[in-house]
Amino acid sequence: MSSLVQRYLEDVHTELLQERSGAVASYIPELARVDPDGFAICLATSDGHVYEVGDSRREFAIQSISKPFTYALALADRGIAAVGEKVDVEPSGEAFNEISLDPTTERPRNPMINAGAIASASLIDGSDAAEKFERVRRLYSRCAGRDLTVDEAMFASESETGHRNRAIGHLLRGYGIIEGDPQEAVELYFRQCSIEVNCRDLALMAATLADNGAHPLTGERVLDPALCERVLSVMTTCGMYNGAGDWVARVGLPAKSGVGGGILAVLPGQFGLAVYSPRLDQHGNSVRGVAACRRLSQDLELHFLHVT
Ligand code: GLU
Repeated sequence: MSSLVQRYLEDVHTELLQERSGAVASYIPELARVDPDGFAICLATSDGHVYEVGDSRREFAIQSISKPFTYALALADRGIAAVGEKVDVEPSGEAFNEISLDPTTERPRNPMINAGAIASASLIDGSDAAEKFERVRRLYSRCAGRDLTVDEAMFASESETGHRNRAIGHLLRGYGIIEGDPQEAVELYFRQCSIEVNCRDLALMAATLADNGAHPLTGERVLDPALCERVLSVMTTCGMYNGAGDWVARVGLPAKSGVGGGILAVLPGQFGLAVYSPRLDQHGNSVRGVAACRRLSQDLELHFLHVT
């Protein structure tokens, strides 16, 4: 069975090597420097099998795939109700970095857009900025099952060019969503986006969400099951930028992508899937990543509404 899965993933990988459309993100100088041809697919099952194809150990910035995990930590620190008063769970239809709040609720619409992610970062417990970030880094590391670190050049690049995100931070402060220093929350967000992962890490992080918060290899309970359910719900409706509707229709798995070229997807109770390929489509999602997930969903009948 395990060699069958490995061979199947190798076939999908080989076929999609031909796909060269899309472009590497270039709005942050450090993102523009990556090799556009890197490509990996990894699948980690809840019972601890990990399948890796291609450049599965190549490191890249986690970027927006950090958002569900920081949101999870905010939920763990403050509780679902308190976080809900600051960040909603509605799809937005706006750009991920839109400088706006929902006009009726005056809250960020969800934690997968920057406004909601920066608000989530502001809710992390810790006595100072360093401790807050360390708690974030530790949570990601426990979900990956190894110690993750920050790409300092990426962080510097984010911080130098992140004027929109700083504006969002001040907007949130102006509306009382952020109660402390908005710049501290924005810096934490830049740092979390700059954490380096490889495709295998992402598959294991996804598998931890798939397994109700327990890591499939270390066995550690990293997140509470109720929080996983909340996080996966928001990923389902808001995880794929403005391609979220098409994603649900054609793949049908909770997922999150990032402009670094990663995508992670979750089949609850079964496995975590991750793809890395930095050429992005018009929504900011990895072209090969979306294609690979579509292919797996179709071939293996993974769509959550599929009835056998
Ligand atoms: N560095 C990103 C930002 O501008 C995160 C981008 C992403 O992956 O969506 O906020």
